[in-house]
Amino acid sequence: MSEHLAMSRPKEGASGKTGSWRVFKPVVDKEKCNACGLCAMYCPDAAINEDLEVDLEFCKGCGICARECPKKAITMEREEK
Ligand code: SF4
Ligand code: SF4
Repeated sequence: MSEHLAMSRPKEGASGKTGSWRVFKPVVDKEKCNACGLCAMYCPDAAINEDLEVDLEFCKGCGICARECPKKAITMEREEK
């Protein structure tokens, strides 16, 4: 999957990394996922890499990936603090 949609890379923004304020995080069900790459393409923070792993240092928990996933393979789970 190395040539997969390398459109952008996560960068530390003006406000830094996400820190601890995120309330929900995306969890990918690899059984349902067909590796289409749409979640990575839609993620506004480029927090999903070519291997479809979520970088929680940068993920804001917006849920766009879960909403756009055609296989409904991503669920937003509440962060444990
Ligand atoms: S929840 Fe939002 S920021 Fe986090 S991986 Fe999904 S689309 Fe990206
Ligand atoms: S959008 Fe859904 S099916 Fe496609 S790669 Fe992401 S998790 Fe997998």
